[in-house]
Amino acid sequence: MSRTMSPLLVLVHHEEKSETEQNLCGIAGILGIETVLVRVGPLGVTADPLPHQLQAATALAISASAFCAVETLGLISGDLSELTRGAAKNILLYGFQSNRAHADLVARLTGAAVRAITAIPNATRSSFPRDGGPLVGPLSGCDFEREPAPLDVGFELEAGTGVQRILEVGHTPVFIRLERAGNPLFLWAHADPIPGPETPIAEADLVRRCDRFVPALVFLRSAFDGHCWENPIKTARVIIDDPLLKRRYGFIRYEELFRSMRRLGCGVTTAFIPWNWQRTTRRYARLFAPFLPDHSLCVHGCDHTGNEFGEGSEYQLAAKALAALERMDNHRDRTALGSSRVMVFPQGKFSTVAMRALRRAGFLAVVNTTRVPVDCPGDAVTLAQELQPAVTCYSGLPLFKRRYPADLQACALDLFLGRPAHIVEHHGWFRHGCGDFERCVEWLKAVQPGLSWPSLEVALPRQHLRRMSTGGGIEIQFFTPQFSFENPLDQAASYVFSKPEPDPSLVGSVTVDGNPVACDRVDGVVRFCFRLQPRQSMAVAVNVANCPEGVRWSPPFKYRVRVGLRRALSEMRDNHLARHPGAFRAAKAITGALRARSR
Ligand SMILES: [Zn+2]
Repeated sequence: MSRTMSPLLVLVHHEEKSETEQNLCGIAGILGIETVLVRVGPLGVTADPLPHQLQAATALAISASAFCAVETLGLISGDLSELTRGAAKNILLYGFQSNRAHADLVARLTGAAVRAITAIPNATRSSFPRDGGPLVGPLSGCDFEREPAPLDVGFELEAGTGVQRILEVGHTPVFIRLERAGNPLFLWAHADPIPGPETPIAEADLVRRCDRFVPALVFLRSAFDGHCWENPIKTARVIIDDPLLKRRYGFIRYEELFRSMRRLGCGVTTAFIPWNWQRTTRRYARLFAPFLPDHSLCVHGCDHTGNEFGEGSEYQLAAKALAALERMDNHRDRTALGSSRVMVFPQGKFSTVAMRALRRAGFLAVVNTTRVPVDCPGDAVTLAQELQPAVTCYSGLPLFKRRYPADLQACALDLFLGRPAHIVEHHGWFRHGCGDFERCVEWLKAVQPGLSWPSLEVALPRQHLRRMSTGGGIEIQFFTPQFSFENPLDQAASYVFSKPEPDPSLVGSVTVDGNPVACDRVDGVVRFCFRLQPRQSMAVAVNVANCPEGVRWSPPFKYRVRVGLRRALSEMRDNHLARHPGAFRAAKAITGALRARSR
């Protein structure tokens, strides 16, 4: 990160701000970039001619329509170099329509490298060509399903003009970069409004709508390198749900998996059901011990009944969460196999009450396939939350996403957005050995150079966003209640640390290496300053105000019998019936019925 003058995005708009202009400012804000809006209109914006206002700008964003208006008003001559005569080095021109004025404009500004603007009817895929290179990092070569929009347009390029294609929709370039007058010029041809920080994004839509916001991120990161929030920690982990720790569980042969892991240099976490804490034999504990922490454990429910963290009072859920941790501790004491204090919810189901209970019980994080709780109306979180490494709006306990291998390309989007790549599967994935597992790991390693595979206990408390602030200091946002950080610099530096805490009543003291530090609690964020010596490391704890005490998970006998029966049937299904499809369907129906009745 280099020290430069205050970074500033100038967004020029014509008359009232459009939804896209508003949302572009919002996205810049999420990345930590300050925006100044300059309005041009018939009344005249300003006493100053427009280029003069750009003196302070690091980058300029202007829609094709606003550019045409600026020309009509005679504020600039229409030569791009005129517009960029100030400090602005990076320019984003966006919002093109398939009309004569925009076609003339783009041909003129690109020296005819763009021949025309064409409609793209019914394009159901977006793709990031290899041409995008470091600008898109792990997304390079990926393609995604998308919703076609009625106004989809793209650029018709002249061959051999050195235009970099960053994003295509239905094989037509819609986001390109070229050099003009010594400055990088980005052109983004979308016509419909882009989403903003508060736009609700449904579970599957982040991927389907990525062509609507990734270009904004690419431009801003390129223009404001070091000043945009970025996560320097690139980690991945494969998580396998449910197995008992045995030589073989269902289709998993652990010794074969360990050989495969060692060969690939990757890591696997077994999401272990705490109910099974007494069932790891000493012999099998000895088999697993040498592979710590490349193979490690995390917490998978408590009894693994249907919806067990999706309903119930905070008292009940805190009791269950504490029981889960206690069982994992007992398991560690018996077997020397410790567990991450990270929860994977059975069937992915959880409530906001459960998140609060887990936070108070001392969990570090949640890793889950779904990120919307069962007690929240709708099925969406905001784009602002999606652009963070973890969703933090539930009692400040971070929820990190995980995905099935069928969604592997979406993991590339996670890595691009600064989130860890978590793959989830069950024993059936290993039906034909470790081939599918190995292909998945190799693919992730190929798209993200320098990817590491630490245990969740190590990886998640290191996740953070950092950026250079306007004053030249360094700001760090972290997410887990315990956070490990090392000053990467060879010089002492002052840092401002912050953690989202939407419920300040939960937060007690904040400590660094065990010593309390003074902190501000404003607008759902806990913030403190700390100076670190060269390469000095620190351990931060954001403690909860009242730990639950004296709560015990003591369900009735009938419930315990059902849990035992359900586990026995699930294991019979995984270990024996999975090989016989007819019997498998029958067993699934029975365990399903037990799930429904264990509520
Ligand atoms: Zn499970």
